[in-house]
Amino acid sequence: MNNTVNHHRVIIIGSGPAGFTAALYTARANLAPVLFEGNQPGGQLMITTEVENYPGFEHGIMGPELMEIMRKQVHRFGAKSVYRYINKVELDKHPFTLHSDDGQIYTCDALIISTGASAKLLGLPSESKFMGYGVSACATCDGFFFKNQRVLVIGGGDTAMEEADYLTKHASEVTVIHRREEFRASKIMLERVQKNPKIKIVTNTVLEEVIGKEENGNKSVSGARLKNVKTGDITEMDVEGIFIAIGHEPNTAIFKGQIEMDDVGYIKTRKENTYTNIEGVFACGDAQDSVYRQAITAAGTGCMAAIDAERWLTEKGFTD
Ligand code: NDP
Repeated sequence: MNNTVNHHRVIIIGSGPAGFTAALYTARANLAPVLFEGNQPGGQLMITTEVENYPGFEHGIMGPELMEIMRKQVHRFGAKSVYRYINKVELDKHPFTLHSDDGQIYTCDALIISTGASAKLLGLPSESKFMGYGVSACATCDGFFFKNQRVLVIGGGDTAMEEADYLTKHASEVTVIHRREEFRASKIMLERVQKNPKIKIVTNTVLEEVIGKEENGNKSVSGARLKNVKTGDITEMDVEGIFIAIGHEPNTAIFKGQIEMDDVGYIKTRKENTYTNIEGVFACGDAQDSVYRQAITAAGTGCMAAIDAERWLTEKGFTD
């Protein structure tokens, strides 16, 4: 067995609900997990405001607060956080080798990948300024806060259609803004949106700027500056919410070419568990889930990965 200083039985890469839950279960199984928190400690919930759909919090909880509670809970059982980013992995030989951005090298017997996904964003300065304060990348998370308000959805794929449809449960008016005339969305989902009287579709149009105000530290959105890409015309629309729905990207670039993924980059796991095609490497959360993408489902698969890893380690004789 490897005796290097940085050798660990279990390493977890990624610190969203999946990573913390994997850490909780492996810590309680006395596997002394080390959790690399990465570039965004706490993951995607750090950029949301209130989380109302995570069971156990009757009155909801702020995303960053929920993640801090998860962190404290896993530390209580001895899991260690390393506030570093893993920028290279070597999965072709066992133990697995990981390189962190401060030049340290770590090895482990079992690796749990919980690097999550990131919503693609437009990259506008006003978009990042109002993210979490009227701009959102998740209708299921934030739609509720726009009860009887006007919202925009940006995008022309299935995510945009699904979010637009979902938002009509809350918002008074939903406008889908798409940059082309042809839609990438499936016919059935596009038709559902087209038939929904609460939804208006505007094509050949892009979002130029989120209009909002900041008063006494409170930020809110009041409108959107839009540009027709065919005519160049600029218009302003009054809206209280803007949902960016132009797709997600799994954060799996460092595993490319080493582990089986689908075309988009989601890690392939066996249908019934979290095993990847590499023995001893397990994947959970949004890095392997393009369908549900919820904090609670990520936590659920994090638990599964921990149990799978623990059983695999026992089966292979990694016990002492
Ligand atoms: P897609 O890549 O399918 O669509 C992204 C959309 O966003 C496209 O219309 C694209 O425009 C637009 N877009 C991308 N970048 C920009 C930009 N910078 N500015 C403006 N618009 C932009 O991603 P989705 O997340 O919608 O879907 C991903 C996959 O997940 C698909 O396979 C989809 O079918 C699946 N999915 C299935 C669902 C379901 O079945 N219930 C629900 C959600 C997703 P353009 O077309 O011009 O490139």
